[in-house]
Amino acid sequence: MPAGPFVGGGPPFSLGYDCAPQTAASPLKELSLSEISAKPPIVTEVVIIGAGPCGLFQVFELGLLGIGCHLVDSLAAPGGQCTELYPDKPIYDIPALPICGAQELVDRLQQQIAPFNAPLHLGQEVTALRKREDGRFDVETITGTRFDAGAVVIAGGVGSFQPRRIGVQGAEVFEGKTIHYRVRDAASYHGKKLAIFGGGDSALDWVIDFAGKAAAVTHIHRRAEFRGAPASVAKMRSLVEAGSVRYIEGLADSLISEGDVMKGIRVTGNDGVMHDVEADHVFAFFGLHPKLGPIAEWGMELEKKALKVDTEKFQTSIPGIFAVGDINTYPGKKKLILSGFHEAALAAFAIQHHLYPAKKQFLQYTTTSPVMQKRLGVPH
Ligand SMILES: Cc1cc2nc3c(=O)[nH]c(=O)nc-3n(C[C@H](O)[C@H](O)[C@H](O)COP(=O)(O)OP(=O)(O)OC[C@H]3O[C@@H](n4cnc5c(N)ncnc54)[C@H](O)[C@@H]3O)c2cc1C
Repeated sequence: MPAGPFVGGGPPFSLGYDCAPQTAASPLKELSLSEISAKPPIVTEVVIIGAGPCGLFQVFELGLLGIGCHLVDSLAAPGGQCTELYPDKPIYDIPALPICGAQELVDRLQQQIAPFNAPLHLGQEVTALRKREDGRFDVETITGTRFDAGAVVIAGGVGSFQPRRIGVQGAEVFEGKTIHYRVRDAASYHGKKLAIFGGGDSALDWVIDFAGKAAAVTHIHRRAEFRGAPASVAKMRSLVEAGSVRYIEGLADSLISEGDVMKGIRVTGNDGVMHDVEADHVFAFFGLHPKLGPIAEWGMELEKKALKVDTEKFQTSIPGIFAVGDINTYPGKKKLILSGFHEAALAAFAIQHHLYPAKKQFLQYTTTSPVMQKRLGVPH
């Protein structure tokens, strides 16, 4: 259930999983400086970087105080680790929910923040964050979206998820052109020769989807066991038997190219045979791994790859930049969703004070505050 208007992201892409789902963070077109500066920045009170459970709940806590925000995530869907790593697993330590599926928690959070209509910018890694002389912040994403924000909350978890790369020599030249870690605009690959690597749901889903639509589909996986859904494995095997898909058990060895044109990929079969696979495009679905990435370069004090914060405001070493959830550290920190929710509540009050220092702060209860209930859209 979407939390609000979804912004950006381009054509829809697959949400299949390869232990984690694939690959919102595959190479996106980086805009030139002149293209970026041509777009006017979005002026907002707060930008939240990261739409995991803590970033989502931060929208709620800010919204209760009447503070608007934009939410940005490098992935194709909100939910952070819950959605990426364990969507179907039950969580048992969310207060008042004795058992709650991880994706269910994300869906419930989106439902809870829906009244605040916070725009959600997906598929966009935040690459730059700078404090200006006037105390406001310039925030930029890899796709060129720019924000002019009064405060920033980093809810980046363990970092932005990056695709595991194919790891053959020279691949970087073709990544984003003929080597891909996610599928965008599936129809553009119809009629093409495709090599698809991986043993999880993403690889299987796309093998099945492209069979019969692509000119040729070769599926390559390193071992006989698959992590994907058994029904998908069965379907893939039936396509192989029917001759619609070629299957090789083995590993990528090297690229076949002529000059700067990729012609295919050489695969070492587990039986020791070398296979030359003709391919216009190679897809590798090896799952995602988190990378702290640009957050480490924004000048805030770090401790063991986490942002140091105080426990009153959850503010980093740069005033006006706050950090909640798994990304932060302080004495006694526990990387639990519950802790991140508490941090988001206190950070919201601190952000209100940062933005409006003259404003008196009151603790109001949602049960009894007409103002909060109005913000929540509670009918009277
Ligand atoms: C298997 C497993 C089981 C777990 N079980 C439990 C449990 O039972 N109870 C519990 O409390 N916790 C559990 N956890 C931990 C829990 O998932 C984390 O504490 C929680 O997800 C942290 O939320 P977060 O919002 O801080 O970060 P995350 O969920 O990591 O989300 C961070 C988001 O920020 C985005 N991001 C990062 N950098 C950037 C950037 N530069 N630009 C744009 N976006 C960016 C990422 O793409 C990601 O979507 C579990 C974790 C795992 C892996």
